[in-house]
Amino acid sequence: MITLTDTHAHLYLNEFDADRNQMIKRAVQAGIKRFFLPNIDEDSIAPMLQMMHDFQGQCYGMMGLHPCSVNDLIEEQLKLIENTLNQHQFVAVGEIGIDLYWDKTFFKQQQKAFKIQCIWALERKLPIVVHCRNAMSEITALLNELKETSAYKHTPFKGIFHCFSGNEEEANRLIDFGFYLGIGGVLTYKNSGLDKALENISLDHLVLETDAPYLAPVPHRGKRNESAFLRHVAEKLAEIKQCSLFEVAEITTKNSIQIFGV
Ligand SMILES: [Zn+2]
Repeated sequence: MITLTDTHAHLYLNEFDADRNQMIKRAVQAGIKRFFLPNIDEDSIAPMLQMMHDFQGQCYGMMGLHPCSVNDLIEEQLKLIENTLNQHQFVAVGEIGIDLYWDKTFFKQQQKAFKIQCIWALERKLPIVVHCRNAMSEITALLNELKETSAYKHTPFKGIFHCFSGNEEEANRLIDFGFYLGIGGVLTYKNSGLDKALENISLDHLVLETDAPYLAPVPHRGKRNESAFLRHVAEKLAEIKQCSLFEVAEITTKNSIQIFGV
């Protein structure tokens, strides 16, 4: 039996309210037995805590403010997120980052929120789970700045660059930073180029994720994504790396334990 790990899934969203238990069962039957839930904003905290409670030992939570949820009320938003981070057991700070694809209005606030949350992670020795869209240079610049100026310059960053879809050179740059690359449904999309980018990247630097309910892999593309579909991503990765599904499961799950400590 294989054990696959979905390192990034928003399974607490109301897209799953009608069939959450069945959805988890389908995943477990497909070999996906560990689920890591990144927070989004103020509204997702309560349903996420509920799932961590209902599926203890299977579902693990992260706490953070998603860059697309950052707005003018950033001070209050971060206060609430930090209080929650201090009150419960979370395995990472996430998802955090910069997104310049949808909206650039709050770019300054996004930078500030990302930096503050990175420092929370360093202080607590937690990994970060990073959302990056059209913001690779902005994010690496901020991480470099933190490395050089903060009190934590000797603490290496660790974490996951979620939904990686760059080229081989970008992959290597992120690995040098200390990141694992989160590989999801994009890998199964025709012409994504991600298969080529990963050809020479060792499995030792990769983890698997669905980002459910978003970004469903082929043959479910366009539909609601769920953790059971991670199997398609794992099979595609085995094909690209010319190894067995078992090996993909074993190494990527080992990597997830290395990152999250569970
Ligand atoms: Zn996400």
